[in-house]
Amino acid sequence: MQFSKSIEAFQQAQKSIPGGVNSPVRAFKSVKLNPVFIESAKGATIVDIDGNTYTDFVASWGPLIFGHAHEKIVAAINDAAQKGTSYGAPTTSETEMAELIVEMVPSVEKVRMVNSGTEATMSAIRLARGYTGREKILKFVGNYHGHGDSFLIKAGSGAITLGLPDSPGVTAGNAKDTLLANYNDLYSVEKIFEEERQNIAAIIVEPVAGNMGVVVPEKGFLQGLREIATKNGSLLIFDEVITGFRLAKGGAQEYFGVMPDITTLGKIIGGGLPVGAYGGRKEIMDQLAPVGPVYQAGTLSGNPLAMAAGSTMLKLILNTPDFYSELERKAKKLHKGILSNLETTGINGVVNRVGSMMTLFFTNEEKVSSFDEAMNSNTDRYAEYFKLSLESGIYIAPSQFECLFVSYAHTDEDIDNIIAANLKALKKLS
Ligand code: PMP
Repeated sequence: MQFSKSIEAFQQAQKSIPGGVNSPVRAFKSVKLNPVFIESAKGATIVDIDGNTYTDFVASWGPLIFGHAHEKIVAAINDAAQKGTSYGAPTTSETEMAELIVEMVPSVEKVRMVNSGTEATMSAIRLARGYTGREKILKFVGNYHGHGDSFLIKAGSGAITLGLPDSPGVTAGNAKDTLLANYNDLYSVEKIFEEERQNIAAIIVEPVAGNMGVVVPEKGFLQGLREIATKNGSLLIFDEVITGFRLAKGGAQEYFGVMPDITTLGKIIGGGLPVGAYGGRKEIMDQLAPVGPVYQAGTLSGNPLAMAAGSTMLKLILNTPDFYSELERKAKKLHKGILSNLETTGINGVVNRVGSMMTLFFTNEEKVSSFDEAMNSNTDRYAEYFKLSLESGIYIAPSQFECLFVSYAHTDEDIDNIIAANLKALKKLS
């Protein structure tokens, strides 16, 4: 494979863009490679500017569950664009989108659209603070909720990948209002509540952690959080930016049968356009301006292009009866294939998976169910694995602490190919 055009493009980009990228993990820094610059994509295939093609298991970090440039989604965006790209005034497309979300996500009775997952989580904690009259939030070490100040404290995703879990620029005042517990450790949550009971507005959690690699909630963990929040008058926020519409029509809350008070949603509902949303029970959501006193706004919120793409995508899910069973079938096949390859090659590893999100951890641990266990992974080995995968035409996340996503666009042949590429890579590593 030849990367000369990407190498030149990266050099050029670095002159005018910090680090050459508009979101840090894209720079391939932790895998010590030059990032590939993308030219185009269709279905499960992406093409870089040197003409190399890859089967894509990043899917724009999750949202493209029907693959790239789905005909119906592209047509909906085109149609909407013909009628103007933004009005800053209400449209019926926003109501249609809201109704679809309310229909699909069990705990959501009303929903407000924003422009990213970060905006959704920032707004959700403001709402929780306004609703409860309390100031602190409890989050989990290694969970990532976007780059809002309150969340860049022991944060996951690119923050751990780049060794920057706590960012300069976050004030001490902000940091003191974020309390930290350990994922899958209810005792650590209870201990914090013993001391701060009256002060905690909300617990915010990734119901399946995806930003320290996939870490599955242990039996009783989410239910335990629900009980602790209810008992102490705090709200429970599920950050379903990754899990929403991916694990089930109603996200992780439907999948695990635990209802949060507020749900944050992100990129998936934009079908690839910049979108986020947060929703919950009526009496909580009606605290928002203009009905209530909690202020939150957005010039481009509910943008007609994003609404067209998003509602088309949600209707595609509703009209594809085998959607989740097919995702599960393909992801299970891949999971089994990787486990068998690990055994064949004698490489130590753990594969964590829920539905179509999974991570292969290169680790000597027996299991990865906590942040500390995730951190014991061999990131040098992952970097080598990433490079070998790329050279076999398989595009996966350039970090150990992210997910691999299976989409409806992946064919059985795509799954066979990634299993074969995985075996080839593991043989080289062994
Ligand atoms: N929450 C979670 C769980 C996420 O995974 C992400 C992004 N990967 C965000 C929030 C932030 O979303 P965005 O990047 O759209 O701001």
